[in-house]
Amino acid sequence: MAKITLDEAQTEAKSLRKKLDKWAEDYYSKDAPEVEDHVYDQNYNRLLELEAEFPEIVTPDSITQRVGGQVNSDFSKVEHEIPMLSMGDVFSKEELKEFDQRMQKLVGHPVAYNVELKIDGLSLSLEYTDGKLTRASTRGNGSIGEDVTANARYIKDIPQVLPEKITTEVRGECYMSKEAFASLNKERDEKGEAVFANPRNAAAGSLRQLNAQVTKKRDLSTFIYTWVNPPKDITSQHQAIQEMSKLGFHTNQTGKKLSSMDEVFDFIDEYTKKRDSLAYGIDGIVLKVDELSLQQELGNTVKVPRWEIAYKFPPEEQETVVRDIEWTV
Ligand code: NAD
Repeated sequence: MAKITLDEAQTEAKSLRKKLDKWAEDYYSKDAPEVEDHVYDQNYNRLLELEAEFPEIVTPDSITQRVGGQVNSDFSKVEHEIPMLSMGDVFSKEELKEFDQRMQKLVGHPVAYNVELKIDGLSLSLEYTDGKLTRASTRGNGSIGEDVTANARYIKDIPQVLPEKITTEVRGECYMSKEAFASLNKERDEKGEAVFANPRNAAAGSLRQLNAQVTKKRDLSTFIYTWVNPPKDITSQHQAIQEMSKLGFHTNQTGKKLSSMDEVFDFIDEYTKKRDSLAYGIDGIVLKVDELSLQQELGNTVKVPRWEIAYKFPPEEQETVVRDIEWTV
């Protein structure tokens, strides 16, 4: 980082926070982003860089210290007993190697990862009581989410009743397929209505509806990837996905348990090529320490689990990340 003074860093950080808060509001609350994700990410990473260089400028309400979303006050609120967190991200293989080295150092031995596609949608929690779906909620601000139970009843791949009478919670991604997105936008365009910027925003705008009849007309899907309170005999993320699938959840079966970074890089290269041909949008690859006991041991920061990281793909149209961007203050 070019040398700057504490005062300059303070001023720049303040301006970045203002900009990022506004963009996050447009993205999370209005489901209508004003800028592309990579622009948000570049500004966010600049703020991280400044706060790392000058820790004294970190404020508790900085976007780097909290989950970005907000709760629409028109929805009933749901308190997440176990917070729904965000995820750390990296933009290069070099940074992934550093993540792996950090994990190995923290646990004291080599680590296996469950490597999954990062689905471009919004997180959804599903709670079951005695095998019946009793509550569905969005991530919201991580601690408090929005109650979207009525809406989730209209998502076809969400089991309303499980084959076993268990009381449990799973989490995953609610998304809209590329086909459903194209057809929804075509229909909206023909009616003279505003079109959605991308499938992620279309999914969020379709799930977060006070009138569940609107959700009913939208073709939403889910990929479930987290079992919040799995039975004791489930010891790994890879196993959890297979077992949730047996319970009837729609899971993504492309995930692989991998033990070396070379295998992880091959997986990344494979899906960088296949990305466009998938029926749903992905914006990266997620590495999760596979062993659940190690995840527990590694724990979370205020914002992200320490045991997982997202490798984000470069922006689709603009292949090169702008490094000499002018950071306006
Ligand atoms: P994130 O979306 O980058 O990553 C965390 C989320 O990934 C999780 O909450 C989960 O919903 C999702 N996910 C998808 N597949 C997953 C899998 N297999 N396993 C686990 N989780 C999976 O983080 P965030 O905090 O939700 O959002 C930050 C990102 O949102 C930014 O990096 C930026 O790209 C975007 N954003 C864009 C704007 C904008 O204006 N364009 C504004 C705010 C945020």
